[in-house]
Amino acid sequence: MFEGLSDRLGGVLDKLRKRGALKESDVKEAMREVRVALLEADVALPVVKTFITNATERAVGSDVLRSVTPGQMVVKIVHDELKNMLGEGEDINLAAAAPVPILMVGLQGSGKTTSSAKIALHLTKKRNKKVLLASLDIYRPAAQQQLKVLADDNGLGILPIVMGEKPVSIAKRAMDMGRKEGYDAVILDTAGRLHIDMELMSEVAQIRDAVNPAETLLVTDAMTGQDSVNVAKEFAEKVGITGIVLTRIDGDARGGAALSMRQITGCPIKMLGTGEKIDEMEAFHPDRIASRILGMGDVVSLVEKAAETIKKEDAEKMAKKLAKGQFDLNDLLSQLKQLQKMGDLSGIMGMLPGMGALKKQMSQTKLDPKLLTHQEAIILSMTPKERENPALIKASRKKRIAAGCGLSVQDVNKLLKQYLTMSTMIKKMGKMGKKGLFGGMPK
Ligand code: GDP
Repeated sequence: MFEGLSDRLGGVLDKLRKRGALKESDVKEAMREVRVALLEADVALPVVKTFITNATERAVGSDVLRSVTPGQMVVKIVHDELKNMLGEGEDINLAAAAPVPILMVGLQGSGKTTSSAKIALHLTKKRNKKVLLASLDIYRPAAQQQLKVLADDNGLGILPIVMGEKPVSIAKRAMDMGRKEGYDAVILDTAGRLHIDMELMSEVAQIRDAVNPAETLLVTDAMTGQDSVNVAKEFAEKVGITGIVLTRIDGDARGGAALSMRQITGCPIKMLGTGEKIDEMEAFHPDRIASRILGMGDVVSLVEKAAETIKKEDAEKMAKKLAKGQFDLNDLLSQLKQLQKMGDLSGIMGMLPGMGALKKQMSQTKLDPKLLTHQEAIILSMTPKERENPALIKASRKKRIAAGCGLSVQDVNKLLKQYLTMSTMIKKMGKMGKKGLFGGMPK
């Protein structure tokens, strides 16, 4: 979403970084360019003004200009001010007594129903909560059904549909079910309208008064730019909102909505919708976004994503085999491949400024890409039969395998020994049966 802005700012700040000494006029000139870049990204004018005033004030401070690396200091100031502009990263608030009511509001088509289900899944997976979904949209045909399908497909709790019931009654019934069945949170997906109107606002207010929500989250579409900020402002003033869910940041929105929201509405962005799929939602991290805009990459998110993928694939594919105590070299090969994906990430990281520490951390967790490639090569030099049953590999074959992958017999032995240790351990666990270690693994 932030590509355009990122390119423009990158250009301006690179120029500054490359120069040794900076004069006040250099900084002012750069800030004029930053201002244009922000306006072109569709950031609201008052937000741009505050940004430029604050950043200029700090950057022309004598300490900065007299420092050894004035260019870097200015970049850091811009980064900090971007973070300020985005506000604090705030999680969805579940501090109230369970079941915590969460009200989802917004215009039709903003992605409200999808986001309701996404948040339910997020709270279930990331915060280990039991979440009930309920649709209060009795106007749009099939809206209630849409939420039910999303819930059923993803194993989420859903309030049964009762035809003809009014929104406030549905909300109360959902809270009742939440209490009786021990849910941690109840997400109420309200009806949207094409435009803001009094009817919509008063219905939302009635529901709000009936359930007293801990969170009222406005779902709004990043692609609509400043319109989405205006919608948020109206909702904030008329019904009161506690947070914003910004959807479709995967599109080619210029980013102005994300950057203006906090200052204009006084409300934090809490979640970002990053795609149509139900798991395409992220918590909002201002520092990461600021780094992404300044071209430092969003490494932490990337790493988290990779770790998640590995966990999921691992659990699903492996759990069954492992439970039976089965583990052959093909399984080891697929593990190595997944580890390599992480290895690639550490490569990407090396190219990014300021990421040295993270890269070091990753290499300390034994993700040596060369070792992984070697191990992979050894397994690939074996016949499929040998991979399924490594006991077949005798001394003469070890030589052949080593020659085949250009490594030594010791390397082959090392890998086989490692495999043997793993496989013995897994067999032991398998014997513990379903109630053993792997009985508790996600299926
Ligand atoms: P509602 O009318 O506000 O409830 O909107 P829906 O949840 O039905 O969403 C409208 C459309 O937007 C659907 O096709 C969704 O798949 C899509 N959508 C929702 N969130 C996102 C998002 O973050 N990215 C993308 N690309 N599409 C989204």
